[in-house]
Amino acid sequence: MGLDTPDMKELLEPSPPIRYGDRTGANYVGGPRHLSAVLPALSACLGAPVATDVHPSAKALQEALGLPDARSVVVVLVDGLGFWNLVSRQGHVPYLRSLLSEPINQRPLYTSLPSTTVAAMGVFGTGTSPGLTGMTGYTQLNPDTGQLGQMIQFRGAQDPERLQRRPTVFETLQAQGVRVTSSGLPRFRNSALTRAALRGGDYLAHNHSRQRLLAACQAARQSGLTYLYIRDVDKVGHHSGWEGEEWVAALEATDAQLAELHRRLPAGTLTVIVADHGMVEADPDQRIDIAQDPELSQDVRLVGGEPRAVMLYLDQGADPQVVSARWHDRLGERAWVLTRDQAIQQGIFGPVDPRIRPMIGDLLILAGDRVTLVNSAGQTDAATRLPGVHGSWTRLETQIPCLIDLV
Ligand SMILES: [Zn+2]
Repeated sequence: MGLDTPDMKELLEPSPPIRYGDRTGANYVGGPRHLSAVLPALSACLGAPVATDVHPSAKALQEALGLPDARSVVVVLVDGLGFWNLVSRQGHVPYLRSLLSEPINQRPLYTSLPSTTVAAMGVFGTGTSPGLTGMTGYTQLNPDTGQLGQMIQFRGAQDPERLQRRPTVFETLQAQGVRVTSSGLPRFRNSALTRAALRGGDYLAHNHSRQRLLAACQAARQSGLTYLYIRDVDKVGHHSGWEGEEWVAALEATDAQLAELHRRLPAGTLTVIVADHGMVEADPDQRIDIAQDPELSQDVRLVGGEPRAVMLYLDQGADPQVVSARWHDRLGERAWVLTRDQAIQQGIFGPVDPRIRPMIGDLLILAGDRVTLVNSAGQTDAATRLPGVHGSWTRLETQIPCLIDLV
């Protein structure tokens, strides 16, 4: 049974409400079928269930996701590989296509909102929500400085350990005596993002992707959890868009790597392939520059977030309701405008720690269609014209694969 790609119009519609927790519901998606559930569920597969503030029952997650018990688990995160990005190019990727032919792999999971690496990695690594990790977007307010911090490198941000205080699943597993091994680039070993979201366990550092893969295979011979991160699909997607030949080539290379992983892993290893978010191709004609638009800039002190999920921090005394109404009138159906209170009430950030609350923008703007909302006053010209973008709540951006392979 194959999977057909819905038409693009449908994929650019918003997802149903995405919720955090162990339970499924009729009026929402997510729950166990969420990126935050993956590591806790795998901890249960290993017989060392980890409970988090969002997911109290790792065993329930394992069952909901249909994951078998295993003594060795490899989890691969392919940056930027949205479920529908993958499905619509599955003709190019024999190994991933073979996984997609299994009914269990035909239902996507959901990622965090904003659907972006910083927020998603925090959610993945801790099994919680952006409202608890404090990792809420590409840039966000640093309350210590009153200015924006960039959260990939934590430039101008609080120290990773000071901001992100939840234990990671890696740390908890390690404390329970389970082997945890990350295989990655040397420069990510002690990177801010690793320290915030994926600290704990051993880190095997190699410059070449094949060495990282072989190191992961070697580690997986012992019982425990092995983590491998693959980056090129996202990188190429941002620079060339995901609808062109370059992205297909990056996907093919990733497929070849994953197929080799499958061939080399010892029998009995459970492999799970996930992603942090999908991707939308930006339309240059739908690019809106906030800095060049007096109506949109009015009362706005800082433009945080990213082009598909903007967080506005307002001037002191400005009324979020008034600015929200102004943005709504100006943008119409091109974007969704939510005040911080509305966004939190809708559960967009999951449970929210009072310490984290002020770091979230007074307004959250989620872009529709192929719209980008940029700020030429605070971003480089190249950053305002990226062909591939993500962050909003469309199905293309929020639905991610969870491909299960028992070797
Ligand atoms: Zn990205």
